[in-house]
Amino acid sequence: MAPIRPRDSVALMEGYHSPQLDVDVRLNTNESPVAPPAAFVDALAAEVGRVQWHRYPDRAATELRTRIGELHGVGPEQVFVANGSNEVLQTLSLTYGGPGRTVAVFEPTYALHSHIAHMTGTTVAEGERAADFSLDMAEVRRVVSAAEPAITYLCSPNNPTGMVETRDTVTEVLGLVPGLLVVDEAYGQFAPWSALELVDEATPLVVTQTFSKTWSMAGARLGYLVGPSWVVAELEKVVLPYHLDALKQAAGIIAVRFRSEMEERVAQLTEERGRLEAALRELPCDVWPSGANFVLFRPQTLDGADVWAQLVERSILVRNCSSWPRLEGCLRVTIGTTDEDDRFLDALGEILT
Ligand code: PMP
Repeated sequence: MAPIRPRDSVALMEGYHSPQLDVDVRLNTNESPVAPPAAFVDALAAEVGRVQWHRYPDRAATELRTRIGELHGVGPEQVFVANGSNEVLQTLSLTYGGPGRTVAVFEPTYALHSHIAHMTGTTVAEGERAADFSLDMAEVRRVVSAAEPAITYLCSPNNPTGMVETRDTVTEVLGLVPGLLVVDEAYGQFAPWSALELVDEATPLVVTQTFSKTWSMAGARLGYLVGPSWVVAELEKVVLPYHLDALKQAAGIIAVRFRSEMEERVAQLTEERGRLEAALRELPCDVWPSGANFVLFRPQTLDGADVWAQLVERSILVRNCSSWPRLEGCLRVTIGTTDEDDRFLDALGEILT
């Protein structure tokens, strides 16, 4: 028994786990299968020598926010940057959530939305999605009017289902919520549209994105949101001073110079997703259409956990969602390189047929 107990809400918490195993083919955490361009790495290496290591970094990260804002046609005052979009979400919860406040989520969705709420002492109002994982507007109305959430989360494309919310859906939800609507677009660049087009100063909407997936920079921990400047100003009050180190700021500034290379990688992965989805449909599996860099599927002939274990035996790791509520028997596979995906598909075919 530990001599000092954390507060009850933490002591009872399970924590967030994404098991890593030493395997040849890692298709479990939705990273990019390819490294960023070599010229990016060279430019960043040169930057290391220019960092004033004895000084604190630019606290407001103005240049980085300006460059990110340029990607989306907004000024730096509409951009908040943090250590991965998870820290963006945490800062939102610290700012607009907290004791006595509620966030609304619609399950199944990204587990961190409710986990972060719990960590920040925020009540979670859990709505259910329809059986096909689409958003049920009657349920949204019910949850929102009962809970009056300070924050409502949508995730589009949704993790782990891959489903993209339509513009009409997001607009409708926006009209219903009393507080802030957060659209988590960690996989936004893989989808046919972005809720970024709905962001303006008068609308309580923020859209979060990340460098982890499309920018091949999960190792850098860099994410951001675009929203009204009055939201960004509040978040800046809450986040720790100098939370973005100098090299990370430089990494982000350099990365956005490689936008066209990033878009090329996204186009390739989107095409590969089509191939993988089609191949999965040839196997005895239920497959959900995806707008992200992963695909959710459920083997029909064998238990999902069993298939997961047999894939691990063949040194292939996918995400085992089979015991998650509402996702019984499901697995989620990240789009990898063509070779990685072929190895996965061959192994799965062998296991299932
Ligand atoms: N949102 C969603 C929906 C995600 O799937 C992830 C990554 N698992 C994140 C946010 C967090 O990404 P990061 O902190 O790497 O930006």
